[in-house]
Amino acid sequence: MKTYALLGKNIGYSSSPFMHNAAFSALKMDAEYKIFDIPERDLKGFLCDLRSGKIEGCNVTIPYKEKALEFVDEKNDTVEAIGALNTIARKKEKLVADNTDFLGFMKALRGEGEGDLNFDPKGKNIFLFGAGGAAKAIVYVLLTLKAKRIILTDIDKAKAEALAGSFFKKRKGDVSITVSADEEQYEEFISRSNLLINATPCGMKEKDGALFDYRYIEEKHYIFDLIYARKTPLVKDAQKSGARAVDGLNMLLYQAAASFSVWTGREAPLPVMRKALLEHVGRPS
Ligand code: NAP
Repeated sequence: MKTYALLGKNIGYSSSPFMHNAAFSALKMDAEYKIFDIPERDLKGFLCDLRSGKIEGCNVTIPYKEKALEFVDEKNDTVEAIGALNTIARKKEKLVADNTDFLGFMKALRGEGEGDLNFDPKGKNIFLFGAGGAAKAIVYVLLTLKAKRIILTDIDKAKAEALAGSFFKKRKGDVSITVSADEEQYEEFISRSNLLINATPCGMKEKDGALFDYRYIEEKHYIFDLIYARKTPLVKDAQKSGARAVDGLNMLLYQAAASFSVWTGREAPLPVMRKALLEHVGRPS
């Protein structure tokens, strides 16, 4: 039996094993997908097992998306540009890094299916909350798709500045990235934005406060909340205001499907994976 892995720390909550195991089973593949919750000192040993074939392929998540880059042999252009990976495949004993978060976000952003946002960022103003791991892939998607302006905010302003700085030399076209932590400006920024993105964990828990005053949301706005485990107050309030709002379910699904294809060379059975994901997060399919 082939073993595929999710590598990370404190990741017992993950939906990935449910999606991938459902896909293996539907395609009658003799394979399993398991969580490897490991401390950083075991990272090198894990990647040796991947190189030797004990493990066939892996996803990498918090907190190793950057650290794992030190142990791979090849990175595609997307990984190089984002500076983080989430997928490693073994090709002729070489470890090859990929970043399917990029594809997952892009597809869910532009797609026209159920749960997709159907939004083209070209020439548009975007307000992005959060400058962590996921935001890196998002900024790169927005640059690639020629957004006009990205306003980036994070509780930790230095983090937002570092992220904006890291993309400075990779700017495409006329995109400008502005960093702000000034909540007094949010109303104005939001009124000038076409798309608002939540790439923070805010909203994941019942007790979380609001990311901003949701009364600023207008019907014209598009909202993408990366949180997928529940329908957040941001998504609910946006929908009440008549705005188009989606959660992170499709992004998660599409990145998983893309990783599946990277490892196996086969098309992922998307409906089967979607059903497994919805069941795991307790949402009706
Ligand atoms: P991360 O690396 O921890 O980054 C989150 C960033 O948001 C941190 O810099 C954090 O600052 C900041 N932050 C927290 N609360 C904030 C607030 N109220 N306002 C502004 N900034 C705030 O996490 P990540 O990996 O980027 O993930 C972010 C979210 O996206 C999580 O909810 C994750 O589950 C979700 N996600 C979804 C998908 C998907 O496929 N749908 C994929 C990746 C991530 P501090 O560190 O100082 O708290």
